[in-house]
Amino acid sequence: MHRTSEGMGWMLRKVFEQISLEPVVKPLSDLVENRLKEAWSERPCPNCGAEGHIRTWDGCDRVRCRSCGHSPRYTSGTPFANKELADGKLLLIFVLYVDTLLSTRAISRLFTHDYDTIADAVDEFETVFLDGFPAVWAAIAPCVGVRRRSMRHHRRVQDTRDRSRHGQVWSDAHRAYLAMEYEHKIVVHDNEFVTEDGVHTNQAECLWSVTEPWLEKFRGLSKDRLQTAVHAFGFMRSLTLVKAPIQGVIDCFALSSLQDLT
Ligand SMILES: [Zn+2]
Repeated sequence: MHRTSEGMGWMLRKVFEQISLEPVVKPLSDLVENRLKEAWSERPCPNCGAEGHIRTWDGCDRVRCRSCGHSPRYTSGTPFANKELADGKLLLIFVLYVDTLLSTRAISRLFTHDYDTIADAVDEFETVFLDGFPAVWAAIAPCVGVRRRSMRHHRRVQDTRDRSRHGQVWSDAHRAYLAMEYEHKIVVHDNEFVTEDGVHTNQAECLWSVTEPWLEKFRGLSKDRLQTAVHAFGFMRSLTLVKAPIQGVIDCFALSSLQDLT
């Protein structure tokens, strides 16, 4: 009989021990490698600035500038660099963190890695994911009002703080919202759930209904950490709702981190 404190974490780990992750991790690692190499081939050399001179090869973990000979690893500058875990496993860990109710501690138990290793990786990937998401979103979801651009031209992350490009803000008239500077319409739920001109908060409440259970796994967050976590959850959910492939998540890491090298 195992200690009660190990509880479900122990049981899940035993289940995972019966399942080889290799069939999942290897293809994910290949996807990460391919997408990062694509991003390298589309960017200037970080050493000499030459455009279109970065070469990549299948099976080689380095890319090379034909102009100056600079040859960093394809993971250089990305959150995949200098990690003891395989690229695919890191990607899987991040997706489990942001897209399931599993806590970071539960994930560390599943993968039999120490908590600090997983927590540090999750924090780093989350930061880079948030930085890269706006550019990826601009490419795959033009219907939200962000200018569509091809991946080839994503040299800069779009500034999504300009709400004037995203339409009006609708709220339930809570006084915390009323001080906002943006164009603002309200619906008072004591009177009605949809105003005559169609203002409602159904989508926000629907989003909260799925966000709240996800946030509970943290058992409390600081104000800054809460904002970061909600953004990560919302961004991943946006990718899920438009049925973006897993490459879209990898692109978030590739675009922001490889852009920063210039
Ligand atoms: Zn160069």
